[in-house]
Amino acid sequence: MIPTKFTRKLKKLLGHENVLTDENELVAYSYDSQPQQALPDAMVLVSSTNDIAGTVKLAVEYGIPIVARGAGSGMTGGAIPERGGIIVNMERMDRIIDISVEDRIAYLQPGVITGDFQAVVSEKGLYYPPEPASSQYSSIGGNVAESAGGLGCVKYGLTKHFVAGLIFVTTGGDVVKTGVYSDKDSPFDVGALMLGSEGTLAVITEVAVRLIDLPESRVTVLALFRSLVETAQASNAVLMSGVNPSVLEFMDRRCIDTVREYAEVSIPDDTGALLIAELDGDTTETETGHKILLETLQNLHPLDLKSARTEKERNALWKLRKSLSPAIVKIAPLKFNEDICVPLSRIPEMAAFVEELGKRHDVQVVTFGHSGDGNLHVNFMTHWKRPDEIARAKTAIEELFRETVRVGGTLSGEHGIGIAKRPYLSIELDEATMEFEKRIKHAFDPGNILNPGKIFPE
Ligand SMILES: Cc1cc2nc3c(=O)[nH]c(=O)nc-3n(C[C@H](O)[C@H](O)[C@H](O)COP(=O)(O)OP(=O)(O)OC[C@H]3O[C@@H](n4cnc5c(N)ncnc54)[C@H](O)[C@@H]3O)c2cc1C
Repeated sequence: MIPTKFTRKLKKLLGHENVLTDENELVAYSYDSQPQQALPDAMVLVSSTNDIAGTVKLAVEYGIPIVARGAGSGMTGGAIPERGGIIVNMERMDRIIDISVEDRIAYLQPGVITGDFQAVVSEKGLYYPPEPASSQYSSIGGNVAESAGGLGCVKYGLTKHFVAGLIFVTTGGDVVKTGVYSDKDSPFDVGALMLGSEGTLAVITEVAVRLIDLPESRVTVLALFRSLVETAQASNAVLMSGVNPSVLEFMDRRCIDTVREYAEVSIPDDTGALLIAELDGDTTETETGHKILLETLQNLHPLDLKSARTEKERNALWKLRKSLSPAIVKIAPLKFNEDICVPLSRIPEMAAFVEELGKRHDVQVVTFGHSGDGNLHVNFMTHWKRPDEIARAKTAIEELFRETVRVGGTLSGEHGIGIAKRPYLSIELDEATMEFEKRIKHAFDPGNILNPGKIFPE
């Protein structure tokens, strides 16, 4: 419970109508895209950096937890107010402040929806490549706080590679400017600490991102194979062929069965897994790349190969992939979604391991992901009413993480740690590293106000 005096001051600061305390309304801010829930004590709608600075100052004075929330699409519970307190809701801070075509930089409030922004810049002949599959609803602030990855990362990199500067509010109430927002060179790259910090160090109030030219052409290829391991091998063969794919995605048989009914392309029943590869660039580049791509895949004896050039044809192929994440809950309503990342050379072996893991623990496993950058989304499908199966899934998850680290991989390629992966962090980080990172958190947030309890096991 938050003190009445605190709520009164908050309402005075932000306006009565911008502070919600009714439980029925707060339910909407109690969850994100993973299966846990916790009610906040209040939700505040902020409109400016000043609103946020004032809110943070008050929260520090009263020792009330603050959880910044973008669109709530996070996969690891980052926006869940596990310890109550207040949700700082960014949905009204959704303004594209400026797009400098000459400088190839855009200035955004954190609540801007990434897909909307991409559409706006593409009208100016520009491109913002980091594209999480959730781009139609996730926010740029949430993308920065998770350093989101996605479809284009194999060629262009993660969100963090496109951040040119940040403005953020610290628990000391300071407004800190980094990168293009700061007048002078800073001795430390403080902004870099914010990338992937999951709202635990500061609240981001403005983001400057880099833009590139919109590619002139795109060509997409769908390759169907008999097994997941064959598909993983094909993904690596594409990378070794000399083409530079802008997207390289795979889906296993269960994924295919789930989206078959929405598919606008025919997929034979004996398809064990599929690969989608896309090339972008100038027309000569994509045409040459397309020939190499088809030749490489043909040599691996796929069941079928299809190319898509027009927007309509490409959308039909992409529909397969983009409808997947929400559709797989048809298999079972409770999904533990893990996004391990392994060295490219280990993908085929991990694909085999994941299939064997599901069979051994008698849990349905659905795997897809960004094979071009080693990022496998391994989903353990179960049901709240099957506690034994949930327990088996959790044992399998721990085994998956141990194997991932053993082969030189990491627990999270893009979804962050949040609540979901917190218990497993020590599998990857040694004690000294974890302690050092905790000291960084303490330096930024000595009162443990910002998203308390997230990332680090306590
Ligand atoms: C169907 C689906 C597909 C997805 N595909 C991808 C994918 O391809 N790649 C990928 O990386 N992720 C993916 N995700 C996960 C998710 O969309 C990303 O993590 C995204 O970046 C979260 O953005 P959000 O605005 O929803 O953030 P939220 O979920 O609201 O918050 C995420 C974290 O960021 C913090 N935060 C939010 N805003 C701020 C701020 N202004 N200042 C400080 N901290 C802040 C929150 O406290 C929280 O810890 C997917 C999710 C779904 C549901």
